[in-house]
Amino acid sequence: MSEFEGLVAAVTGGASGIGLATARLLAAKGARVAVLDLKPDDVPEPLAGFRCDVSSDDEARSAVDAVAERFGRLDVLVNNAGIGAQGDVTANSDDEWHRVFDVNVVGMVRLTRAALPHLKASPSAVVVNTCSIAAWAGLPARALYSATKGAVLSLTLAMATDHLPDRVRVNCVCPGTADTPWVGRLLDTAADPAAERDALAARQPMGRLVTAEEVANAIAYLASPLSSSTTGTALAVDGGMYGLRPRGP
Ligand code: NAD
Repeated sequence: MSEFEGLVAAVTGGASGIGLATARLLAAKGARVAVLDLKPDDVPEPLAGFRCDVSSDDEARSAVDAVAERFGRLDVLVNNAGIGAQGDVTANSDDEWHRVFDVNVVGMVRLTRAALPHLKASPSAVVVNTCSIAAWAGLPARALYSATKGAVLSLTLAMATDHLPDRVRVNCVCPGTADTPWVGRLLDTAADPAAERDALAARQPMGRLVTAEEVANAIAYLASPLSSSTTGTALAVDGGMYGLRPRGP
């Protein structure tokens, strides 16, 4: 498959997990792929790593400029970098609320702002944001994280509306719990990691964690001409967690 032949994609947080699976898939489908991450040196060939902390406007702008200079264009932006936070609404300080919003939400704004001039020049311009089932599932002990992903959902709709005249499509994916290094780190802190993993899997009707590659498939679909009529939508990749949730009588 080569539906990305000739196109250039930038994937934030592409050095690990969902971002890495996405970067690899887009490259396998013909794109030249830039990974924008805190750890650009970890990125395997043929991906090109660029240093970028999405919480810095200077770094966002210089990374996007470096990608455009290296490849001569930018067609696909995958805003995927994100960090977690645990606990109910009493668990995190104001500084932590600002910090997680700064990475998970404003980070997407910074990258999109920097990328828009290049995207507007592309006949195949797309932004895909990595949201989460946390945006709408009311997950326990995830108040701050869920609030950031609710904001990502709303931001996706706003961006899709505002950039319709620019012919830039904007969509998001909402993964359920996915088997990535992030979740591995979370499990390592549990009293009984195996039991905690089983509990996370059981929460999803399919009874298993989602794979990073399954989320990457959904991102690639939304980034490709296969979804050319789709903008302002959220695609759940969650083992049925949202669609098959228990409903009242
Ligand atoms: P991960 O920790 O495996 O990878 C995250 C990557 O983002 C890392 O390479 C890290 O270096 C990078 N990163 C972190 N902060 C950054 C910053 N400030 N600037 C640039 N890069 C930064 O995580 P993952 O599980 O692959 O998660 C990726 C995205 O998917 C996140 O937005 C997360 O909220 C979302 N998500 C994950 C799950 C899950 O269960 N894993 C579920 C729903 C949504």
